[in-house]
Amino acid sequence: MMALMSFSSKVFSPDSANHVREREEGHASSSSPGIRNPMDDKSMISKRQTQLQLHIDSLLLCRKCPKVQSHPVSCGPVLSRVMLVGQAPGVKEPVLGRPFAWTAGKAMFAWFEQEVGVTETEFRRTVYMAAVCRCFPGKNAQGGDRVPSGHEVASCGEWLRAEIAILQPGLVLAVGKLAISQFLDEVPVLTQLVGRIVRVRKFGRNFDLIALPHPSGASPWPRIEPGKNLTKTALALVRNHPAWMARV
Ligand code: SF4
Repeated sequence: MMALMSFSSKVFSPDSANHVREREEGHASSSSPGIRNPMDDKSMISKRQTQLQLHIDSLLLCRKCPKVQSHPVSCGPVLSRVMLVGQAPGVKEPVLGRPFAWTAGKAMFAWFEQEVGVTETEFRRTVYMAAVCRCFPGKNAQGGDRVPSGHEVASCGEWLRAEIAILQPGLVLAVGKLAISQFLDEVPVLTQLVGRIVRVRKFGRNFDLIALPHPSGASPWPRIEPGKNLTKTALALVRNHPAWMARV
């Protein structure tokens, strides 16, 4: 049984935010998690695969942000009904040529292997991995990874918009607060969000969102209670989600 989240509008109201988005965007389409639609016939899948490849070819050439310290990192043309959205690559990912290729990835793929039963290889083959910012932002004054600027997030958000249009995800996994904040106008504390499913509307499409804490190790939240158990609950929701089960 999935736990579909509903919030008091005073505390947090994804629905009202979504209506605003819908009005702003002026068009509406829907996607029911896990339910195949006419877009899934063979010729349409082939068309979307081509669109996705062209999209990635363009993404890899993007040089819009002068302050970032790498070229864009992409997971490749994985046509999936499940998208994962992280924050930004670290210093290693551009060198290794794939997202979540280093410490945070090791922790995250261990979660998925233990709680969802999918190996890193299988995850990479079946889940489209995006990010709020596709290039390594560089280091901050304290030596940690710089949080992408609002301008960089907005610029890179256009790539995310295009991916949601092409992939039409039934489920989006948002990893860490910056990624979560791309989908919710108000981000509640993680204890109120992780371990639940939120129905959201973004870029003209409806889909389910499951939030995960960032696995980087910078925060102990996923390793101590209640975060540890809530993270397990969130991963169980992923495992049983219809879009996850029919992701490719
Ligand atoms: S961060 Fe995004 S928008 Fe900016 S240069 Fe990299 S891919 Fe392009």
